[in-house]
Amino acid sequence: MKTADVIVIGGGIAGASAAAEIAADGARVLLLEMESQPGYHTTGRSAAMYEPSEGVAIVRALTRASFPFFATPPDGFTDVPLLSPRGVLMFAYDGQEMLAADAKRNGFAEVDASFARAKLPLLKLDGTIAILWDGDAQDVDVDALHGGRLRALRRMKGELVVDAPVHAGKRVGGTWRLDAGSEGCEAPTVVLAAGAWSDRVAASCGIVPVGLQPKRRSAAVISGPVGAAVGDWPEISPVDVSFYCKPMGGKLMLSPADEEPVEPHDAWADDLRLAEAAAGLEQLVDMQVQRLERTWGGLRTFAPDGLPVVGFDPDAHGFFWLAGQGGYGIQTSPALSRLAAALVAGRDVPADLTRDGIAPEPLSPSRFR
Ligand SMILES: Cc1cc2nc3c(=O)[nH]c(=O)nc-3n(C[C@H](O)[C@H](O)[C@H](O)COP(=O)(O)OP(=O)(O)OC[C@H]3O[C@@H](n4cnc5c(N)ncnc54)[C@H](O)[C@@H]3O)c2cc1C
Repeated sequence: MKTADVIVIGGGIAGASAAAEIAADGARVLLLEMESQPGYHTTGRSAAMYEPSEGVAIVRALTRASFPFFATPPDGFTDVPLLSPRGVLMFAYDGQEMLAADAKRNGFAEVDASFARAKLPLLKLDGTIAILWDGDAQDVDVDALHGGRLRALRRMKGELVVDAPVHAGKRVGGTWRLDAGSEGCEAPTVVLAAGAWSDRVAASCGIVPVGLQPKRRSAAVISGPVGAAVGDWPEISPVDVSFYCKPMGGKLMLSPADEEPVEPHDAWADDLRLAEAAAGLEQLVDMQVQRLERTWGGLRTFAPDGLPVVGFDPDAHGFFWLAGQGGYGIQTSPALSRLAAALVAGRDVPADLTRDGIAPEPLSPSRFR
């Protein structure tokens, strides 16, 4: 039987970040991951963007509050920058005036065709009624971010156990006892960061689910046009985000931005939706998509109101939720993990988060009970 002060379930970006922040408070932390490779599910399948203009107000606040960590991570966290410049161009067409106005309210600036063509010379701009630019959007080095969190946890004597799926749990006396594969473990506090599986894991511990819905999103790697320096292209999408495309590893990542409700599983791509995205891209950029070189799917998981679920369960003492990050779990992870660590330790919410308008109540699982 392994013992700890806090057990974190799930070794994606949410669990790894929270485990490291909680360990930094001096707690003995045990991080349980069901796969042999932490980051195997959604964390390893994202578009790796930091987009401060994306999402509803509290998501934007969490993203902004995460910027200082990305810009200046703690000493020794990583040898490479966590952020690098990217930018997002969006294109509005007839009937999309409201979407364009929303984007401008959230931080996009309207630019002209010559600005857009300077960023991406092969753009076909016929029919656009507005071109919008978010120059604050950046690429995130997710491997460096996730790896840095796991190293920080180890440095603080925290332990990561892989191949440790939590099947069941119950509270005995003042302690949670979890059955995790061949491991039995116990701690007074459990943090649930199991991504798409969070509701199922909660139920296996006798806790009422909050109603999380995983939604599959497909993605593919394609080659850019011969001779084009695609590495410098911005992310591009129509303002209704019916698809998006951005540079990735010297090639391009293309996604139909699909949101198919599914059960938790090892997700794969919807090739039909990817073909539609390829057709959309060919209408926006003077290029032919010859083939999808690699495809994948990932699960973005949403609470009924679309906001993250962060806080102690009101009906299960010592059981803390950190789930429902939807499409923003990478870019909000620094702020969400600091908020989680403060609440787990019973500390006040850090002052910089409060200043940004981040309060625990709108994120608490109590809102679903
Ligand atoms: C195509 C795509 C593009 C995206 N782009 C962006 C983006 O640009 N920017 C952004 O911020 N976000 C983006 N996201 C969203 C982001 O990737 C997620 O919000 C984030 O990765 C969620 O992290 P997580 O740790 O909650 O989930 P996961 O990474 O899925 O981690 C959960 C972990 O829990 C483990 N687990 C599950 N059940 C158990 C159990 N019973 N016992 C032990 N372990 C268990 C799983 O194995 C998994 O490792 C994107 C997502 C997709 C799919």
